[in-house]
Amino acid sequence: MGTPHPRHTRNALVNEGWALPVALQPDELLSSWLARAALTQGCDPLVLTGSIWPSWRVWARDPDRGLSKAQVDALASVSGIDTSTLHTTSLRTTAATIARGPLESYAIWPWILAQGTRNRMRHGGLQYCPICLKEDGKPYFRRQWRLAWHTGCVKHGVLLADRCTHCHAPLEPHRLSAEDGHLARCATCVSDLRQVDTLPVVESALTFQNTADDVLTTGVGVYGTTQLSPADWFELSRYFLTILRKASLTQSGKLRALIRELGINSVQLNPPATGLPLELLPVGERMQLLSALWRLLSAGPEGFRAATHAALLTRGYLHHTKQPVPASVLTLLESLPGQIGIGSYPARDKSGAPRSKQTVMRMHARLLRRMNAASR
Ligand SMILES: [Zn+2]
Ligand SMILES: [Zn+2]
Repeated sequence: MGTPHPRHTRNALVNEGWALPVALQPDELLSSWLARAALTQGCDPLVLTGSIWPSWRVWARDPDRGLSKAQVDALASVSGIDTSTLHTTSLRTTAATIARGPLESYAIWPWILAQGTRNRMRHGGLQYCPICLKEDGKPYFRRQWRLAWHTGCVKHGVLLADRCTHCHAPLEPHRLSAEDGHLARCATCVSDLRQVDTLPVVESALTFQNTADDVLTTGVGVYGTTQLSPADWFELSRYFLTILRKASLTQSGKLRALIRELGINSVQLNPPATGLPLELLPVGERMQLLSALWRLLSAGPEGFRAATHAALLTRGYLHHTKQPVPASVLTLLESLPGQIGIGSYPARDKSGAPRSKQTVMRMHARLLRRMNAASR
């Protein structure tokens, strides 16, 4: 019955497909493409997704974790993009390669930035390179910008941004309106995300990032002469991160001696303000941690063994009750004096004694985060 009007009704969007097909860009996130498709049709992302999935509140979830078969089928039929291509936009395959068990057993997928979704609001979980967005004909968000080990842009050598520099809101392209026109805008203050100053990324953080990407691409990680599966390599990296974060919380002692022995700049290794998991940390804090992590990893087993002996570490310092010791470190651990579990980190203080300044600051930062979330 005549030519469809570009301003679709809800039913028309479902039944006739999109008037203006929107192709996926290289490595584009599903959420980015959905928001871009909506603005291209001249409607808000909420309206577009409400027409595709009337009974699914997609933006209250994290659609980049993947869709069900029925959800993908509905999307394929309106967008004209086949289901197998749509599946490539998901973070699920990457997360499943890294995880030790079924993804359903994780509240936060390991090494994938968590959005901290609250209705349609986010705490974070997405980052971007301002220069990449500037160079894009159609600005869009990449899958790699959801990966927790990505802190810099390889192409431009700059630190990624995970907030609007004008209003400090997280990036929420799904909350843009039709009149905003493109994705390179802050959904909260509408300022242009491309018009910001950039900072250089620390080289060793970028080296860690490239190495982690290679582990996923080739399916093989290396520690010393040992070949590791991607899951084992990322688990080893997580184990070392725990050591680094524990070391950053003490101003003296053997763990500090260990990181000095490894040539890690202890001044830069500030403990994250909140003590949150890696997947929830701001990009600047992750960059410092991952830069130190690269020093630790690249020392290899022999360098690590020499540093543990020079720092007079006992087994307890390298054993965390909440985290298993990776097999690739177990032999080293057994060569150290002491017993596992003894000489470990100070237990949580339950005595009621005054808390340290560090502890109070971390509690304060957590409280502020909760208050900010509640007020948005
Ligand atoms: Zn870039
Ligand atoms: Zn803003």
